[in-house]
Amino acid sequence: MAKEKTRKSVYTFGNKKAEGDASMKNLLGGKGANLAEMNLIGVPVPPGFTITTEVCTDYNKYGREKVVEMIRPEVEAAVKYVEKIMGSGFGDKKNPLLLSVRSGARASMPGMMDTVLNLGLNDEAVESIAKKSGNERFAWDSYRRFVQMFGDVVLGMKPASKEDIDPFEEIMEHMKEEKGIHLDTEFTVADLKELVKRFKKAVKKVTGHDFPTDPWEQLWGSVMAVFDSWMNERAVYYRKLNNIPAEWGTAVNVQAMVFGNMGQNSGTGVAFTRDAATGEDIFNGEYLIDAQGEDVVAGIRTPQQITKEGSKRWAKLANVSEKERASKYPSLEEAMPAIYKELLDIQQKLEDHYRDMQDLEFTIQDGKLWMLQTRNGKRTGAAMVKIAMDMLKQGILTEKEALLRCEPAKLDELLHPVFDPTAVTKAKVLAKGLPASPGAATGQVVFHADEAEKWVEKGHKVVLVRIETSPEDLKGMNVAEGILTARGGMTSHAAVVARGMGKCCVSGAGNLKIDYKARTLTIDGVKHKEGDWISLNGSTGEVYDGKIETRDPELSGDFGKLMKLADKYSRMLVRTNADTPRDSQVARNFGAKGIGLCRTEHMFFEGDRIKAMREMILANDEEGRRKALKKLLPIQRADFEGIFEAMQDLPVTVRLLDPPLHEFVPHEEANQKEMAKEMGISVEEVKQKVHDLAEFNPMLGHRGCRLGNTYPEISEMQARAIIEAALNLKKKGIKAIPEIMIPLTGTLEEMKLQEKIVRETAEKVFAERKEKIDYLVGTMIEIPRAALIADRIAESAEFFSFGTNDLTQMTFGYSRDDAGKFLPVYYEKGILKHDPFQILDQEGVGQLVRMGVERGRSTRPNLKVGICGEHGGEPSSVEFCHSVGMNYVSCSPYRVPIARLAAAQAVIKEEAALAKSKKTETKAKKSKKDEGKGKKAAKKKK
Ligand code: ADP
Ligand code: MG
Ligand code: MG
Repeated sequence: MAKEKTRKSVYTFGNKKAEGDASMKNLLGGKGANLAEMNLIGVPVPPGFTITTEVCTDYNKYGREKVVEMIRPEVEAAVKYVEKIMGSGFGDKKNPLLLSVRSGARASMPGMMDTVLNLGLNDEAVESIAKKSGNERFAWDSYRRFVQMFGDVVLGMKPASKEDIDPFEEIMEHMKEEKGIHLDTEFTVADLKELVKRFKKAVKKVTGHDFPTDPWEQLWGSVMAVFDSWMNERAVYYRKLNNIPAEWGTAVNVQAMVFGNMGQNSGTGVAFTRDAATGEDIFNGEYLIDAQGEDVVAGIRTPQQITKEGSKRWAKLANVSEKERASKYPSLEEAMPAIYKELLDIQQKLEDHYRDMQDLEFTIQDGKLWMLQTRNGKRTGAAMVKIAMDMLKQGILTEKEALLRCEPAKLDELLHPVFDPTAVTKAKVLAKGLPASPGAATGQVVFHADEAEKWVEKGHKVVLVRIETSPEDLKGMNVAEGILTARGGMTSHAAVVARGMGKCCVSGAGNLKIDYKARTLTIDGVKHKEGDWISLNGSTGEVYDGKIETRDPELSGDFGKLMKLADKYSRMLVRTNADTPRDSQVARNFGAKGIGLCRTEHMFFEGDRIKAMREMILANDEEGRRKALKKLLPIQRADFEGIFEAMQDLPVTVRLLDPPLHEFVPHEEANQKEMAKEMGISVEEVKQKVHDLAEFNPMLGHRGCRLGNTYPEISEMQARAIIEAALNLKKKGIKAIPEIMIPLTGTLEEMKLQEKIVRETAEKVFAERKEKIDYLVGTMIEIPRAALIADRIAESAEFFSFGTNDLTQMTFGYSRDDAGKFLPVYYEKGILKHDPFQILDQEGVGQLVRMGVERGRSTRPNLKVGICGEHGGEPSSVEFCHSVGMNYVSCSPYRVPIARLAAAQAVIKEEAALAKSKKTETKAKKSKKDEGKGKKAAKKKK
């Protein structure tokens, strides 16, 4: 620890000077770094100091006593520094300095310690403050706030649950009743004195100790409480959700108090340099006169608007007349014009300086403005896009910077219907599941897919509620507004399919009890029947009671501009995974440059098709299969025509039949009977067949190209349908570019045999039609062996598409459908950081991908390579795909814009990293040269 002694642990700021600056967020936390920076650029900030995040880490290692011993001299010196600027003394009875203690991590973190204000007060100091300010009410109001905050935050008296009432609030409520008043501001000085007395009594009762009167004891207690809060349950949980490492620690900011509660010439507020909801370049915010700290957000009093225009807009919404507004709720612009002008200048200065929208806190003490915080403001997806594009237009950002400013995943908000914001606050939350597929849905509960179809046909809006879903539910899912399941994770069938459809889905809502027979859904003992209205928020996982109005997403012009800009910089193209003309069209509208995965199996579930499919599967021999395939051929051909047409002039990768056949056969008695009748065989025979097809491990069983290689006639029919469809369109002058993809290849021979079937079929069709088209034959790389022998596979395959869903499954050895049982435990124990089915595991699976690309291209340098797993729409995975040199990524239609932005960012980040490494390289070269010079000089000396 010798080293730590010389380390600087405390950084002061004040009087437009600071030891730290904005670049030191890691050490000083976001709040501390910005308080320092504001001083440096000449913004008025009350003086104070920041205890570094490193001290927090030490605290967790060595404990309280050791840490206090370590930093005490620096803290004492820093307090002296503040005393000097303020002209008062900490613990001075006549002229006491009061402080605030504020937490502040690198990233702003809800769940961390609440701020303690007015620290340093005790029975003597309060009298001096009263005398000095000539405002007894203010002094006692500050004191009762301090005892409450200290009791809640430092002494742990704040109840853990929001539902439980705070002991201090309870005392205040009693007091109000006794006095027959309603507002905090109505307390008299005598009332406030009485409150302090009762508060202290409550402290003694709960903690067994008197309320600490020694300011230093108060200060150390508060500082340590901030460190403790870093490890509290809420903070730990939040860090886990947001991948914030525990080692980061939080900083502590100690700052001289400024008082917004000194009367009519004082106040406090928050403001945004632009509109955080819409992104409009309009300064806005709220404030309260004669108030302190969090009163504005606490909702005790109605806050007033900062600008006159904002105030007028507010009055309209709140149904307040202009006369009442101007007299009772004037804007800061009207009430304190000089202060407003100063604030307006400062907000501009801060935004210009940080080159981003700022979220500000300020306090006015007796006619003087003080800034207490600035940070990059949180914003909606729409605001994010608008602000970035506006700042580009305004010349504040370069194109590359504007692109990097937008978080790809956040674009999602712009792509789905959303709840009306006021309606949703009034709704009752019934349950919470996983936010499986974003968007908002409201509809009547149905439990069966076919019921969903029937209800929708009759003009109802439905939410499909299932224990879990399967491919048979596809049509019902498609017509439903949203999908709710009791089981299954973020990559469950319901979740994946819903995201593909761009449909709202909440999955794995554990406390749902679904009774299919009785058609009821029980949540916490309350029964909901078929036809009852519920609403889902797929972005948060919340399930609401009743109907909530939704709004269509607004795709503003800026969004389109951002996408164009992204395409200007990205090297990879973005394709889509789509199985229908409608999805293809949606994706095309979102800028997809082709289809990277068209699954053919989904086409077999629609309407009567499943019967022909089942007939094919249940047939006893090739002849029987061919008979059924003949029925399927025109259907498939027509489907392909539809998709090729929607995607004309762009490539469409069609994957041949992939899933285990068992997924298609009838499992219910009634369907089995129907099939038996259709095929002229006995029900027993059907049952036997279904039984025979069952596999112990279907995902590793008879599927993928194993089907096409054991039943070549299936591949033959599909190849024919594809080629014929393309030729039919050619006749109409529409250009189709099919890329035929063989699934689940593991050996070169498997691939070659399939290639042969496809090419021979194509030649046959060309001969029949006396007409040709261009097409490719390639494969999905989704079995680890295929990645390992990719150089061999590329002898036959003209393109690779990494099927990273299966590749992840087989590399980890996790069954995707069963992983939900252990993955949550794995995150909790830190065994895994994220779901590898959502975020590509670059360390492991990524190696196979990289190797597959390299080896494939070693055989075939122009090999076209893409990805078609769920990862194709996940930003960090897209970046990885870029780094291994893929030609494209393919993702569900609603993720296309996200992937387009991520692909552009990948290029920009790569360039930046390259430039940086070049810089250090030349630096290293230079220092080597210097070293050489030094050596020569040394030699000369000798
Ligand atoms: P949070 O991170 O929750 O916003 P803050 O530390 O910013 O917590 O503080 C909470 C409230 O207390 C804010 O309204 C802030 O402006 C106010 N506050 C903090 N320090 C001071 C101070 N020195 N003087 C006056 N008000 C303060
Ligand atoms: Mg704050
Ligand atoms: Mg697969």
